Amino acid sequence: MSESGKTVVVALGGNAILQPGQVGTFEEQLVNVDTAMRRIAAMVAGGWEVVLTHGNGPQVGNLLIQQELASGQVAPMPMDVCGAMSQGQIGYMLEQTLQNHLVKRRLKTPVVSILTQVAVDARDPAFANPSKPVGPFYDETRAKTLMLEQGHAMREDAGRGWRRVVPSPEPVEIIPREAIRDLVADGVLIICSGGGGIPVVRGRDRALSGVDAVIDKDLAAMRLALDVEAEVLMILTDVPQAYVDYNTPEQKALSQVTESEMRAYAAAGHFKAGSMGPKVEACLRFTAAGGRSIIANLKDVVPALEGNAGTHIVPD
Ligand code: ADP
Ligand code: MG
Repeated sequence: MSESGKTVVVALGGNAILQPGQVGTFEEQLVNVDTAMRRIAAMVAGGWEVVLTHGNGPQVGNLLIQQELASGQVAPMPMDVCGAMSQGQIGYMLEQTLQNHLVKRRLKTPVVSILTQVAVDARDPAFANPSKPVGPFYDETRAKTLMLEQGHAMREDAGRGWRRVVPSPEPVEIIPREAIRDLVADGVLIICSGGGGIPVVRGRDRALSGVDAVIDKDLAAMRLALDVEAEVLMILTDVPQAYVDYNTPEQKALSQVTESEMRAYAAAGHFKAGSMGPKVEACLRFTAAGGRSIIANLKDVVPALEGNAGTHIVPD
């Protein structure tokens, strides 16, 4: 795995931080993150320049619940601020555990996490169709109050209660991209764009302001990989590969797939929207721009980089 000087953008799925069934104590999250960072340190030891990004679903969900439940005593913060809080929380844990693993290996790579705003287009069609459920479940009365008083879009979620839905617009511009590029060139290991970034829009005077939305973290990782001119985009998740006919008796793992084959599988609906769908889309766009894209299990980082695990999307 000696790949001196090559840049890889690694996107960590939510499971690397908090696993289903865990309650989400700090200790649980720290153990998960520590295991993940041991694997990232192995990539650094192999000579890769790593740029790290991560999901924030469970963490930002918990912050939104805290805002709601404490709203009688503490003024609730809007979604963009909760996104920033989650980047701080997760960035801190990743930064510390990764630094510790690098020191153990006598590597001097500095690790820095960056609070990252990501611009979206205020005219993105997603704003007309909020689709991403976030935060706590509400009963109908409270849901209708929030719709009236706060203007939130709320939707009934399969008998489980009402939930707020927000737009999921495309990432257009990672705001501090020049700074990120310079730091990467200086050999700094950057953690950025967590949770897809803090969504902001540019006004007519180019001024930035936060919006209530969620940017898909895999699409933001693709944007980041293009911006830092990475050789590889690696999306790490909780399944070893992408499959066609997933969860059916015909299920078939994809090891190496060409761009046009993968596009055809995606068009045929093999990859679920909101989970594998955006990963495949991110990889397709990165491969189309000339990069190498990999979807793999967090456990398999090293063999996946060597081409011996995961799903590899290659040019036609
Ligand atoms: P992450 O937190 O890593 O982004 P997601 O839950 O969003 O994880 O996406 C990974 C999940 O995608 C897998 O756990 C799997 O259940 C689901 N999935 C949907 N379609 C497929 C497919 N065709 N192949 C593999 N996994 C799939
Ligand atoms: Mg996901």
